[in-house]
Amino acid sequence: MCSIGDDDVLDDGISSLMTPQKQMLHYLPKGTCYKCGQDRELYKIHFREAECKNCFLIFVNHKFRATVGSSKALPRNADILLVFDGSAESVVLLDMLQTAQSESNFKRLHCYLKVLFLDDYEAYKDTCGINDYKLYIQQVKDLLLSYDNIKCYVTNLRSGIHQKPFDIKDMNLYLNREMEKEKVFSNDINNIQTSTSRNEFIKLYRKNLIASMATILSCKYAFIPTINISIATDLLSAIALGQGNNVACDVAFKDDRLVNGIKIMRPIKNLTETEVLLYIRARNIKWCDRRDHVINASSSIQRITELFIRNLQKNYSSTVSTIICTGNKITSNNDSYEEFEEKCCLCNSSIVNSETLSAVRYSRYVSERMSSDFDLDINFKKFLNLTQNQDQKVCHSCQNIGRDSDINLIKHYL
Ligand SMILES: [Zn+2]
Ligand SMILES: [Zn+2]
Repeated sequence: MCSIGDDDVLDDGISSLMTPQKQMLHYLPKGTCYKCGQDRELYKIHFREAECKNCFLIFVNHKFRATVGSSKALPRNADILLVFDGSAESVVLLDMLQTAQSESNFKRLHCYLKVLFLDDYEAYKDTCGINDYKLYIQQVKDLLLSYDNIKCYVTNLRSGIHQKPFDIKDMNLYLNREMEKEKVFSNDINNIQTSTSRNEFIKLYRKNLIASMATILSCKYAFIPTINISIATDLLSAIALGQGNNVACDVAFKDDRLVNGIKIMRPIKNLTETEVLLYIRARNIKWCDRRDHVINASSSIQRITELFIRNLQKNYSSTVSTIICTGNKITSNNDSYEEFEEKCCLCNSSIVNSETLSAVRYSRYVSERMSSDFDLDINFKKFLNLTQNQDQKVCHSCQNIGRDSDINLIKHYL
């Protein structure tokens, strides 16, 4: 963490993945803005002419408002819980919402805002560059309290689903909380055999925790700081993990699969990493995201997918937008979500019977059966009955988590 604009920022080991953007921020050329014609520092992003700070801010704020507005999913005066996780994206989302609330009357976004600081340091400590946890917490507290009139709370990613969050002003109580159960939880997560399943479980748990905190804090809507590259990664990972039918909810503006009726929304899903970093510079916010945005695992499907997208994006700048446009087409085939009555007991996605999945099961059966097992047909029927009964309430993707862990143990956390 540091102040934007410090000269030593670029030389102290920030992830190589983020370095080109940070370097771009270090020096902005001066010139004439193509929109208003003024001579200023120029903010240049892909597919747009270079523009001045004010014109850039108008553009990104419009992107945010258009995403929220065009969905028509957010009613006037809604109670919103903003999830702040210490990332640059969450800083931008908070600032944009605060700006939107203080606009002149006809432009104002009418809503009641609360902020939840979701402390996920434990999950990311191996990949983020935060050296001093207490200093990090203090800086988050200072930043959140600098926004007037917003109620802020804090909870930990390992906290129990029904554990009440702490007021951010009571940070000492939070830091000295009872942590025995959190240690058991960490231990259970570490016992999930593959990093891919571990990441999937954390993703599910995080979503349920957010929904539960929103309920406790009387908010019906939760805003999460997901930007376009995370959406593209989630989309391709979800397809690789066999979540085909439910992929749309992972990438759309609104995800309403949660059992308690909370709607999770992604209002900055159309922003790019460059826009996020330029926004922080333009607004002169003293914050620097020290995470490298890489999931804490060396060989998970999510990590490999993200690296693949980032590497491709370096040479083909429309990679992310192409993936997302393709994802939006999948959305249009998923309108009948409500029709499916059977829901997965872990992720609450709809369960469909698919011939492809039956074929996958058959293939797995054939490769795993004993070499002495000659009575293939009878045994396969038994196997199919067994798996179909077991599968009744677990979708294909969650079955993968089940294979890598004790599903009953995992289930009681969700
Ligand atoms: Zn301008
Ligand atoms: Zn599931």
